[in-house]
Amino acid sequence: MTPPPPAAPEPAGSGAADPLDARLPSPLVEVADERLAARGVRLALKRDDLIHPDLPGNKYRKLRLNLAAAAEAGHTTLLTFGGAYSNHLRATAAAGRLLGLRTVGLVRGDELADRPLNPSLARAAADGMRLEFVDRATYRRKAEPETLAALTDRFGPAYVLPEGGSNALAAVGAAELGRELDGEADVVAVAVGTGGTLAGLAAGLAAGLGSGSGSGSGRAEAIGFPVLRGGGFLAAEVLRLQEEAFGGRRGRWRLDDRFHHGGYARTTPELDAFAADFAARHGLRPEPVYVAKMLHGVHTLAEEGAFPPGTRVAAVITGTDPGETG
Ligand SMILES: *Cc1c(COP(=O)(O)O)cnc(C)c1O
Repeated sequence: MTPPPPAAPEPAGSGAADPLDARLPSPLVEVADERLAARGVRLALKRDDLIHPDLPGNKYRKLRLNLAAAAEAGHTTLLTFGGAYSNHLRATAAAGRLLGLRTVGLVRGDELADRPLNPSLARAAADGMRLEFVDRATYRRKAEPETLAALTDRFGPAYVLPEGGSNALAAVGAAELGRELDGEADVVAVAVGTGGTLAGLAAGLAAGLGSGSGSGSGRAEAIGFPVLRGGGFLAAEVLRLQEEAFGGRRGRWRLDDRFHHGGYARTTPELDAFAADFAARHGLRPEPVYVAKMLHGVHTLAEEGAFPPGTRVAAVITGTDPGETG
């Protein structure tokens, strides 16, 4: 047997060698907001948008262990699903480019096949992702075994990531976010799409607790703000992800579904005004699909008196306004 080659030195400043070179932990930056201060509430922004230029925020955290599992199993293709504006599709395409993996993205809506690609899909395509547009009925059946078998027949063996990238490994990866915030906040606010980030965040916030301690522990509560309409199914989905990832319900978390502003990628004049005001006050234009809705929720809850004076709120900035980075 030949001895293993000497281990390559790890890059300076990071923990375990990370081929994607993520900047972790992300910064936690306190901002002065006089409306919140009037309620005795302190706000800090957890800048997950700064983790990686191509896989911002929670997308990096959710992909990390899945990419390791794909490599471990010898897969050279990632296959996943998303809508036409899916950040997850774009992040998967970028990861494929950086790691030398083939990527296939199934996009909801076969009518899109004949139209020019929107900027998000164009970016995924430029990163080498093969885009396949499927009708909505087929898309709904994407997780069924027959559909997956047909896809691997067509595209070859692939590591399959669910829509939005939320599976048990994604939740375990997102728990790191909670651990980074442990002791730093009383309430952590996060926008919710598919729920994987909230599932992991809440578990990570509770990770320092001994077994048997659950709700009422006095540790931070995670509040998820669904950005889609009719997110009533999400509580069950977050619980399912926690059961798969951690073996049961973990941490203190709840959803507040009043801030979807009409649904996914929809907005209202109230939300637009809020986002413009936030940008003017803090020099950070909130990403409109997720982050602006979460921040609007935080400010509204504060105005409603939901947070006792002295509460430290951490708001997770999961993404960047595409208008900011071009
Ligand atoms: C994907 C995404 C989310 C939602 O994450 P889930 O784990 O799907 O709930 C939140 N914010 C941004 C910017 C995202 O891209």
